[in-house]
Amino acid sequence: MTKDHQVYLDYAASTPVDQRVVQAMLPYFSEVFGNPSSAHRHGRQAEAAVEQARETVAQALHCQSNEIVFTSCGSESDNLALRGAALAERTKRGAKRILITPVEHHAVSHTAAQLERLFGFEVEHLPIDSTGMLLVDHVAPMLTPDVAVVSAIYANNEIGTLNPIADLGRLCRERKIPFHSDAVQAGAYLPLDVQALNVDLLSLGAHKFYGPKGVGVLYARRGTKIEPHLTGGGQEGGLRAGTHNAPYIVGLAEALRLAQAERESRLQTLLPMRDWLIQQVLGQIPGAQLSGHPQWRLPNHASFVFPGVDGNKLLMALDVEGFSCSSGSACKTGDPKPSEVLLALGLSPELALGSLRVTLGSATNPPDLERFIPVLSAAVARLGKLAGSSVAI
Ligand SMILES: *Cc1c(COP(=O)(O)O)cnc(C)c1O
Repeated sequence: MTKDHQVYLDYAASTPVDQRVVQAMLPYFSEVFGNPSSAHRHGRQAEAAVEQARETVAQALHCQSNEIVFTSCGSESDNLALRGAALAERTKRGAKRILITPVEHHAVSHTAAQLERLFGFEVEHLPIDSTGMLLVDHVAPMLTPDVAVVSAIYANNEIGTLNPIADLGRLCRERKIPFHSDAVQAGAYLPLDVQALNVDLLSLGAHKFYGPKGVGVLYARRGTKIEPHLTGGGQEGGLRAGTHNAPYIVGLAEALRLAQAERESRLQTLLPMRDWLIQQVLGQIPGAQLSGHPQWRLPNHASFVFPGVDGNKLLMALDVEGFSCSSGSACKTGDPKPSEVLLALGLSPELALGSLRVTLGSATNPPDLERFIPVLSAAVARLGKLAGSSVAI
């Protein structure tokens, strides 16, 4: 198809802001613009909007509104949770081990690495299987009193696999170890009841569920100690200084409310399209393999590896042909490092370099996907042949 009809198949990277969310945000840029911390009427109006949003988010998460911390993004929520809990637990009881899965988003894995490098923590990986799912039955012996914090991704951004968060949470709760889950990909589609999930800390970012970029949430269970990482004014219970971004906070709350209210209908449109896509790719493209779990995966998420294909070249070819997809991670062109997540599944570096992620969303429709399959099939065949011939020469 021509460039004026570029099809977006990268909803795991970001989503468009829902028009209803835009409408909810608009009054808070120029009409109700006061600083929510100011005592006068302008400030109180803005504060009322922020507190209403907090109430909405608390309802969605089944928690108290004073357990909601607004942040600037999902990454910041992950940082605040992991660094904040690790430092507080070390101060409190000298704990210095951090347990994470080997398939975390960099917002968690790089934060853990920094805690190891600069702050003397020891980071260990929780066991996973070849679909990237946590082997929760093997975890208990690792949960000793010197563990400061445990973090496990709820729904994987690269491979779509869902984790048994509630089971891991129960094990941590029994041992009074703070448990964080990165739920940034889960926000759009999965239940977010923090009581049922047994989490102490849970991260969300609005732009993954049709809200604006630049705003996130950290749920922090009452009694969970976290050291603030942005110090200054006393906003957000002293955990996160900085004047509230009222329009974005309002937008996040409305987007989350809509995601929950419309969850069933969104699932019913996306699931059949996802399953059709996976079936077509595996059936029609020789050598194609699904990465991640075949059933326990995000309802909008399909991810593959193609042997002998350069994933970056594949992305560029698809882009030229009118389809915006992603490789495993937001892998920059010219950086041919295989994804750590795919390597952690046990894939060879060569195979991991041939990855493709196709994530569906609000504008996805069957005709676009029907046009996508032959385009993908031809691109894989062409690139595979190129690689083969260069080896032969
Ligand atoms: C996108 C994403 C993040 C980062 O969220 P931002 O709001 O973009 O900072 C963290 N974790 C996961 C699983 C994600 O998909």
